Amino acid sequence: MSILVVEDLGKSYSGFQAVRSVSFTLEADEMVALIGPNGAGKSTCFNMIDGQLAPTTGRIAIFGRNTAGMTPGDIWRLGVGRTFQVAATFSSMTVEENVQMALISHHPRPWPALRWAARYHVAEAERLLDVVGMANQAQRSCGELAYGDLKRLELAIALANDPKLLLMDEPAAGMAPRERHALMGLTANIARERRIGVLFTEHDMDVVFGHADRVLVLNRGTVIAEGAPAAVRANSEVREVYLGAGSLYGALR
Ligand code: ADP
Ligand code: MG
Repeated sequence: MSILVVEDLGKSYSGFQAVRSVSFTLEADEMVALIGPNGAGKSTCFNMIDGQLAPTTGRIAIFGRNTAGMTPGDIWRLGVGRTFQVAATFSSMTVEENVQMALISHHPRPWPALRWAARYHVAEAERLLDVVGMANQAQRSCGELAYGDLKRLELAIALANDPKLLLMDEPAAGMAPRERHALMGLTANIARERRIGVLFTEHDMDVVFGHADRVLVLNRGTVIAEGAPAAVRANSEVREVYLGAGSLYGALR
């Protein structure tokens, strides 16, 4: 069974059709890239899938459940993790405390007073930090982390509710190319080990084609190509869209 089914999805912002008639599926274990030039409608799709935006038309099913009317919290509780384009950590807390907070929200129990929160889920937080290669920075304050480390912490936080579907809207934004590869390689390994389906978007085409099992290309709100990385890379319409978009997409060789 597909863990994500998107059918005829559309969104208009006061008359402007940002996404139109988008359909695709995502299987367990699969790593799918949703790419396209700026303004193509990628974030709008992510925001509809994770419940932040209500679609104007169409249907979304996650793990077989129609998500119409569900809040982002409902969808998160289904087992959907997401990383944000903007760093969403509490900068005054330590790395480990941030992961503990995420674990506390996952395990339903009365919300503990903050001063007790430090006792909860220490071992599990350390395990997650180990998974993303941050164990040795557990006690550092988030405010002093290097940017790439903050991104890995965000990944650990997204993993705290043990998701089976992970949504990543430009997880590597602002990183150097080598770091982008490392972050997506790490994500791919974790996803394979934990059997997580991943939908991600990323500007660096080398990173996309290096890590995606399948690629969907959006342009002006519609899917113009879909398939294995090599086939999409060779697609003439895709090449036209990217070459037309200028040097940012020069990596599409
Ligand atoms: P992408 O993530 O691919 O860059 P977006 O989904 O952010 O694209 O945006 C798609 C289109 O919708 C763009 O033309 C953008 O200007 C427009 N758009 C996005 N959000 C809003 C909004 N809240 N109100 C009006 N237009 C929006
Ligand atoms: Mg976007």
